Amino acid sequence: MTSETEAARREPTDMDPDEFRRYGKEVVERIAAYLERPESWPVLPPVRPGELRAALPAHPPQTGEPMEAILEDFDRLILPHTTHWNHPGFFAYFAISGSAAGVLGEALTAALNVNAMLWRSAPAATELEQVTLDWLRQLLGLPAEMMGTINDTASLSTLHALAAAREMWPELRVRQEGLAGRADVPAMRVYCSEEAHSSVDKAAVTLGLGLAGVRRVPTDAEYRMDVGALARAIAEDRARGVRPLAVVATVGTTSTTSVDPVREIAAVCEREALWLHVDAAYGGAAAVLPELRWALEGVERADSVVVNPHKWLFVPLDCSVLYTRRPEVLRRAFSLTPEYLTTPVGDEALNLMDYGVALGRRFRALKLWFVLRWFGATGLQAQLAEHIRLAQVFRGWVDMSADFERLAPAPFSVVVFRHHPPGVDDEAELDRLNAALLERVNASGEVFLSHTRAKGRYAIRLAVGNIRTRETHVRRAWEILRGAADEVSRSPR
Ligand SMILES: *Cc1c(COP(=O)(O)O)cnc(C)c1O
Repeated sequence: MTSETEAARREPTDMDPDEFRRYGKEVVERIAAYLERPESWPVLPPVRPGELRAALPAHPPQTGEPMEAILEDFDRLILPHTTHWNHPGFFAYFAISGSAAGVLGEALTAALNVNAMLWRSAPAATELEQVTLDWLRQLLGLPAEMMGTINDTASLSTLHALAAAREMWPELRVRQEGLAGRADVPAMRVYCSEEAHSSVDKAAVTLGLGLAGVRRVPTDAEYRMDVGALARAIAEDRARGVRPLAVVATVGTTSTTSVDPVREIAAVCEREALWLHVDAAYGGAAAVLPELRWALEGVERADSVVVNPHKWLFVPLDCSVLYTRRPEVLRRAFSLTPEYLTTPVGDEALNLMDYGVALGRRFRALKLWFVLRWFGATGLQAQLAEHIRLAQVFRGWVDMSADFERLAPAPFSVVVFRHHPPGVDDEAELDRLNAALLERVNASGEVFLSHTRAKGRYAIRLAVGNIRTRETHVRRAWEILRGAADEVSRSPR
């Protein structure tokens, strides 16, 4: 009846199954077409801040809109305002890609929409998380006693690890009484290298240790933590009545992918009774390759380690794994069970809400399971080996070139370098030249690279990590860099 149809249109309910099938096919078709040719888009969109916002209505729709209109606007407005991480010319930050298997897993997660706070609220999500993380642990060669939990990001994983480190001293009663207004609690210190990720500082801010609670230890010529300096810093702090809590070592630093000497740092931590957390958000994945197992050497002695499968293991954002040898301490830091969340199963079931800040948890293990099964160990190894090979090919070009120089070793798939024309030796001038060069390169729309500072020097980074990147793309990046280098060197200073 017409009136019934009209009423339904005015007050839309969820889609009926046939509509869902129709639009679902359209969405899958869009995804397939997009992933088939992400390079039909400029990797970095030529847009200005606020442009998309201005193109969208300021107010929400009063009545429901047809799915055709929503999808059309996705094509017309969202895609052109997107930086295309799927583009094979994406070499910025840490290049990542969510593989197709992961995308399908993510779709099913959305469909199930379970909240894995308790075993009872999501038995499959709880148990699959433990199984997939044990698989991943084996792939990385980590010890069997390490228990994993999935967080959204490495930042949260590190926050959780440092909260557990603080809980190693229950006599301080921080969990119960907090830190504010207490004269009976000493200042606390976390140590990491000057190259460590800013998430360590954010964790310290969040945990009430403050930025002053993070002591950054100098690095050697290859950007690795100086262990002698670490030991001296700890002794100095102890002598002043500061309580050392934890050391964060990094395997694959964000700027240059350097690897701290974890084994020696572990020895210091054991001697000093400090929690050792290893940030291997990017670099940890390399350990799936037997020839790169050395990257996680010593990590078996760590109290915790974070690895991000969403970074270099083809799982769509977000999926960060925190492994710990002391799950009971992590649990002591975070478990709190209000009456409405007690369950008859009681303590024999694992309730993941007890291991972190968040109560509600997405079913993230599903996409990880899809990816691990789709690729298998050999598939993942082949992808990573190819990325490393491509980066090493690029590194060879940089090393052979008279007007480019490498600024850091390249142990994995990231090359850190700069343009250095013979005769130009003023550091400020080189910084300016390289910033101008990078801007030109990124304006091409064909490739996107990012920068960092390496011992103070402006440095360009080429990070290989996208699943669609081939040698032709790396070669093209080099051609564009070479061409832009000639242009900026010619232009008046
Ligand atoms: C990327 C990265 C992080 C931060 O990761 P998020 O998951 O975005 O929080 C932390 N540490 C290192 C070494 C990283 O490379």
